[in-house]
Amino acid sequence: MGYNRKNLKRIKEEYSTKHLVAEREAEIKRRELHAELPQLADIDKKLSGVGVELMGVALSAGADKEARFAALRCETDALNKKRNELLVAAGYPADYTDVKYECEKCSDSGYVGIKMCDCMREALVMAGYESSGIAHLLRTQTFENFSLDYYKAKPESYAMMEKIFGYVKNYAENFESGKSENIAMFGGTGLGKTHISSAVAKKVIEKGNDVFYVTAVGMVSDFEAEQFGSEHMAKGELTDRYFDCDLLIIDDLGAELSNQFTVSCLYNLLNVRINRRAATIISTNLTQQELFKKYNERITSRIIGEFRILPFTGTDIRMQKIKGGK
Ligand SMILES: [Zn+2]
Repeated sequence: MGYNRKNLKRIKEEYSTKHLVAEREAEIKRRELHAELPQLADIDKKLSGVGVELMGVALSAGADKEARFAALRCETDALNKKRNELLVAAGYPADYTDVKYECEKCSDSGYVGIKMCDCMREALVMAGYESSGIAHLLRTQTFENFSLDYYKAKPESYAMMEKIFGYVKNYAENFESGKSENIAMFGGTGLGKTHISSAVAKKVIEKGNDVFYVTAVGMVSDFEAEQFGSEHMAKGELTDRYFDCDLLIIDDLGAELSNQFTVSCLYNLLNVRINRRAATIISTNLTQQELFKKYNERITSRIIGEFRILPFTGTDIRMQKIKGGK
């Protein structure tokens, strides 16, 4: 659990390439300069000789160890000074042949000691947005731009939505893989369920978790494609992530065409995730009665029993926006 495994593997590979490319580029520059400035080649040769000597002294146990160290360091400083002067005189910046890493903190290795560098964490969050399935929504549907004003027409709706908003925000900010509870959002279209789901996803990804967001229609098509589609498809190729991610968000449950196969897939998925204590968020336009009719009693009772029910109420926000000309 944690960062999406595929993203982590890919980004680690990218870092190792980035690190090597930076070193290779510096080496190419150094060789070109050596051809142009033979004196520089001479200094670099001496510098590497001093480097070898320094290592030898470090490994030795002589009484004069400190004095030899000081002498060699002095020699290194003098050679570096000469090197810089030579470069500047030839019109190059003194650091021209230094390895130029994108991140100085970790030298593009992604780690500072054993701690992951901020730059790699950020790359993983970005990749997490992309692999969440709702990168486009994450940019526009956040906690910051969720407005409770649309619920003001009905005071009871406003009070309920204020409570729900506070709960989900706290849920996302304190999300813990394997500990956070399941949520089922009930309510008609245009009441902000998708907006809230997107805002939760974004926050939970930023906390270093693998979040997978899918519509129920997309989910059914993945399970069916794997079962009945190309025989070249490996088992789990499309569906492993449904089971493995830290937070699975299934949007618009009930909009999919269901049959015995899809119902049993959904039951199995919910069951496995509940047993693993992996959090799932479901949103649906169906009422609890409609849910009961569409699925079997086993699924419905799983949802009612194992999920925190959040009843969204109010007047369709999309319609309000259209009428208000926003
Ligand atoms: Zn870094």
